[in-house]
Amino acid sequence: MTMKCDILTIFPDIFHAYLREGMLRRAIRNGLLEVRVHDLRDFTADKHRTVDDYPYGGGSGMVMKPEPFFIGVETIAPVRSRRRVLMMSPAGRKFDQTLAKELAEEERHLVFLCGRYEAIDERVRIALADDEISIGDYVLTGGELPALVIIDAAARLVPGVLGSAHSAEVESFTWGILDYPHYTRPPDYRGLSVPEVLLSGHHRDILRWRRKEALRRTLRRRPDLIESAPLSEEDECLIRELKEESL
Ligand code: SAM
Repeated sequence: MTMKCDILTIFPDIFHAYLREGMLRRAIRNGLLEVRVHDLRDFTADKHRTVDDYPYGGGSGMVMKPEPFFIGVETIAPVRSRRRVLMMSPAGRKFDQTLAKELAEEERHLVFLCGRYEAIDERVRIALADDEISIGDYVLTGGELPALVIIDAAARLVPGVLGSAHSAEVESFTWGILDYPHYTRPPDYRGLSVPEVLLSGHHRDILRWRRKEALRRTLRRRPDLIESAPLSEEDECLIRELKEESL
């Protein structure tokens, strides 16, 4: 399976540096991820390649014109049923791991619309976008980082991108709750030692410790996640233990 992404932006260069490194570079080389970056100005009709204009009704800032987005999407992904247009916007659905997984499994072309300036003309949201996505409750200067965040988080869930052992672990072990603490060598550093159990070689004990620490962290830092996490009977048991320990 290949995750196919097209990006419409006025700053195409932002993407190249990031996509040239690490896992995403490998995913692209292995044909598991395709990313095409398009300059929004290539879809303008005037000689100044204008992508923005003054807001109707007055006010500060410029608004991105609808035409380059419509023409751009219709040129790069002309068949509506084969594309899913994602508009980057702080007013959109909050991006999370569930949506990342959904996008990783999406068979349609993902088309990312990156805004700049004050906003994108509302008609793009109404008639072109299938989803409006926010990466968090803060306002960035543009939609390029949000598009990269979404591609990064989704691409690592495409089978084969991380290698089978790791992805299986992500799905069945840490899904829905925070990760457990990780350690590497040396066993003692500045008086801080690695928990004994991790050096014991007892696979079952190590798994149990990791699951318990992941649950401990989640209960402390993000109790809201526990509500919707898929918990096993053993998890419920570990949670009871953790609650008793804290009494
Ligand atoms: N006036 C807009 C508002 O308050 O909602 C903010 C526009 S912002 C300066 C310019 C562009 O950056 C937006 O059109 C959007 O594409 C992108 N953007 C900014 N923050 C974002 C976020 N948290 N998530 C997704 N996209 C964001």
